[in-house]
Amino acid sequence: MPDIIQLLPDHIANQIAAGEVIQRPASAVKELLENAVDAGATEIQLIINDAGKQLLQVIDNGGGMSETDARMAFERHATSKIKEIDDLFRIKTMGFRGEALASIAAVAQVEVKTKRAEDSTGTYIEIENSVVKRQEPVAAANGTSIAMKNLFFNVPARRNFLKSNAAEMRHIVDEFIRVSMAYPDIFFSLTANGQQMFHLDRGTLKQRIVQLLGNQYNAKLVSVEEQTDYMNIYGFIGKPETAKKTRGDQYFFVNHRFIKSAYLNHAVAGAFQEMIATDSFPTYVLFIDLDPAQVDINVHPTKQEIKFEDEKIVYAFVQSAVKHALAQFSITPTLDFDL
Ligand code: ADP
Ligand code: MG
Repeated sequence: MPDIIQLLPDHIANQIAAGEVIQRPASAVKELLENAVDAGATEIQLIINDAGKQLLQVIDNGGGMSETDARMAFERHATSKIKEIDDLFRIKTMGFRGEALASIAAVAQVEVKTKRAEDSTGTYIEIENSVVKRQEPVAAANGTSIAMKNLFFNVPARRNFLKSNAAEMRHIVDEFIRVSMAYPDIFFSLTANGQQMFHLDRGTLKQRIVQLLGNQYNAKLVSVEEQTDYMNIYGFIGKPETAKKTRGDQYFFVNHRFIKSAYLNHAVAGAFQEMIATDSFPTYVLFIDLDPAQVDINVHPTKQEIKFEDEKIVYAFVQSAVKHALAQFSITPTLDFDL
């Protein structure tokens, strides 16, 4: 009998791995926006056609890439962000797996234009099926533009799993909100089918929240701010009257990373007890900053679930900070300043 085990060709291995990282257009939005943030951009534009199925492009004015790095960036496990495993526990960047661009290049046609400030010309690269089709010097602005075209053109089964444009667009907007909320000092825009949906000027966190969640929150946000040696919490809770019947506007960020945590939602809900109806959900945008060694962000490729080294401390701290903010707001007659 002949031996039967074969190594998969790279582009197939990449397509399989891509399934973990890029499930739908919105996953690419998250990855590309986070890369732009990590590149130090102060302006980030997201352009979408056909709910990202036809075109999904992110243009940033960040650090850009050298010609060699621009090619390397699309290799699997290629990253400039960590060098060794311990780096995971001091991570300051949004990315670290070196998988996003390789995944995108395995399941879409990609066009990259990038230039560093110190280079006189930029680099243009076209990639398809993980293979570089074209590469040439190009005149370019400082920063990086990555365009992802015809997502899953080579994986028809996956393409068929995509939902309607309206549904995929909702996922895209969710991801856009989660990243742009965490960086009010970065300008973001979102243009879909030629129409500008968001234009987020740089400003304060409160301004960014109102830009994203709506004017109805202006004058309805109560500041939360508390610090210990172990952690900081800051952000805003909506006054009790902004509570909703659906779990709508609830955002937790840990070290600027949007996370989902039923446990911490429960902590906040507990603080609101008796101030809102039991069947309604408070609004909040809360940032928790703590030593990266105290959180494990490596539990899932999309990194929305994390593990705290000591989740009880975090729970108690979040709950007491929100309680203090609520007490403050109900004692002091409300002074509603405009933005
Ligand atoms: P990761 O972000 O986990 O490092 P990615 O596959 O997302 O992995 O990106 C690979 C590398 O490509 C990054 O580490 C970074 O060096 C470079 N890169 C990606 N996007 C950009 C960008 N917008 N500007 C500059 N460099 C980028
Ligand atoms: Mg990345």
